[in-house]
Amino acid sequence: MASGRNGAYNRLVSAWQIGANRDLVKKSAKALVHSHDHQHCVEDALAAAEKLCAAKDLRFTPLRRRVLEFVWSSHKPVGAYALLDKLRSEDLGSAPPTVYRALDFLIENGLIHRIERMNAFVGCSHPGEAHRGFFLICADCGNAEELEAEELGKAIAAGAAKRGFTAREMTLEVTGVCGDCHKS
Ligand SMILES: [Zn+2]
Ligand SMILES: [Zn+2]
Ligand SMILES: [Zn+2]
Repeated sequence: MASGRNGAYNRLVSAWQIGANRDLVKKSAKALVHSHDHQHCVEDALAAAEKLCAAKDLRFTPLRRRVLEFVWSSHKPVGAYALLDKLRSEDLGSAPPTVYRALDFLIENGLIHRIERMNAFVGCSHPGEAHRGFFLICADCGNAEELEAEELGKAIAAGAAKRGFTAREMTLEVTGVCGDCHKS
């Protein structure tokens, strides 16, 4: 699992280098406010996924698309069981192993992230760019927002390297209260 995801990280770098969906990405990252046109986020995410799969010659099957859509149903992380429940009613070959494989595909290709502490999934707001899974999770509204902190990643990698440790995967999950919940 770990080595597989590391591979995905490397592949992401090449997707980023060819400049895939940079514009789409900025728009959806900015839309992370409480009241916003979320349909826009979903459309951007699906368009970005289509573009990324085409660029990498990967199949964006109807099930993969549906799973991505469900994960993007809001900015709150979605649990695997909730996903399975929603998909059960649809005829997309949604037996649990198939759904888990679709989730793995989306994770490996940087389209969604797994929030470990919640065992849940959230859409990536800048797919196609190499980045770490750093998250700010609001305890009030439940939204998980991606934190861009490349310097922090570098600092951790440098600190680890001093101890002869090669950092491969980094996930940081910070809980607290988001800016929108503070305002309301
Ligand atoms: Zn949204
Ligand atoms: Zn991301
Ligand atoms: Zn909040």
